[in-house]
Amino acid sequence: MLIVTVLRSKGDFVATVAPTATVRELLDLLAEHRIGAAVVTREGAIAGIVSERDVVRNLGEHGGGLLDLAVSEIMTAEVVTCRRDATVEDLARTMTERRIRHVPVVDDGGALIGIVSIGDVVKSRISELESERNDLVGYIGTR
Ligand code: AMP
Repeated sequence: MLIVTVLRSKGDFVATVAPTATVRELLDLLAEHRIGAAVVTREGAIAGIVSERDVVRNLGEHGGGLLDLAVSEIMTAEVVTCRRDATVEDLARTMTERRIRHVPVVDDGGALIGIVSIGDVVKSRISELESERNDLVGYIGTR
């Protein structure tokens, strides 16, 4: 299955945050949308990605003061992205190898057109396997 198919069913919404936003604002955004990561954008371009894991990792070092830090201080600046014609299998491999659970989808010009999470990958894999199973059961039933 292609990533474009996943985006068609889940939509193209991507929660974005400015690098200058505080971690407190980031947490509000994650809670509001019930998500685990936001893409950091500067003047419309991707500047990084920040997930709940970055918040947890930095909590030990900064304690409560973390809430007032800028998102740019805890984000990952080198963002792994994919194109809409990547396959779900490609993305599952990338997520496993790089230990990331979110991959922004970009067009040929590098513009953000969606995001796929590990939850989306698992959901799509399950529905593929279910439909293969139903086909096989149907095939066996006709013999
Ligand atoms: P996650 O598993 O997505 O919560 O993120 C784990 C770590 O990888 C965090 O430090 C994130 O900032 C980073 N990360 C998440 N997604 C990406 C991505 N697509 N590209 C680069 N780093 C990422």
